[in-house]
Amino acid sequence: MLMAEPRVEVRRSARRRRMVSAYREGDTVVVLLPARMTRSEEEHWVAEMLSRLQRSETRRRSPARASDAALLARCRELAARYFDNDAEPASIRWVPPMRTRWASCTPADRTIRVSDRLRDVPGWVLDYVLVHELAHLSVPGHGKDFWELVHRYPRSERAIGYLEGISAAAGWGLTED
Ligand SMILES: [Zn+2]
Repeated sequence: MLMAEPRVEVRRSARRRRMVSAYREGDTVVVLLPARMTRSEEEHWVAEMLSRLQRSETRRRSPARASDAALLARCRELAARYFDNDAEPASIRWVPPMRTRWASCTPADRTIRVSDRLRDVPGWVLDYVLVHELAHLSVPGHGKDFWELVHRYPRSERAIGYLEGISAAAGWGLTED
């Protein structure tokens, strides 16, 4: 899957001698390097750590990717955790990629559709999309009430950044409605 080039912040530490590590902080990837590395070593390690991070995130895909039933099971877990069980769709299913959307919800009949494009994103990103659509079961629009519900899921902002990144990189122009 295509990924946007994330913003990278390199932090050097005099106390680090060999260890290189990287993690996400919001929409930025922080790469920790020993103070003494040269410019070209830095370039090498930044590229290497970005690709390792991406590989490990791909490995953390959601079990919900397997089937519609697995998707529903994941919704139940998320509804229990974030909505006191007060959100269950009548049906939820994987659908072929939609032109403008990652997912959609029809509150009138409580059905949710999720784009196949999300099968390969990390589990925590798919969880955000599910929380977003589950929140639409009680609040249709994108007002303040809606975002209050969505932000019960702590990684919402990070996931929004992730989805914007892959959408921009692939030229899809997708939104998370
Ligand atoms: Zn929405």
